[in-house]
Amino acid sequence: MIVKIKCPKCDAESSISLIDPSYQGPYKCWKCRGLFSIRLEDNKLKSCDPLSQEEFSKLMEIEALKAKLRRK
Ligand SMILES: [Zn+2]
Repeated sequence: MIVKIKCPKCDAESSISLIDPSYQGPYKCWKCRGLFSIRLEDNKLKSCDPLSQEEFSKLMEIEALKAKLRRK
């Protein structure tokens, strides 16, 4: 499913595709390049916290690891 996310910094809208209706993970705005940690529940944005580049990289690593585990 496709969920629309509005960037809290610049209001740019983007769509992400999800497997589950709930999601928690890193998000990068295509426009202002802001980095965020977002949480979605039932396709709605529940929280959005700004991240540092370092925190963002860490989250991306975790997500990559999760994707790897899912494939097994
Ligand atoms: Zn933005």
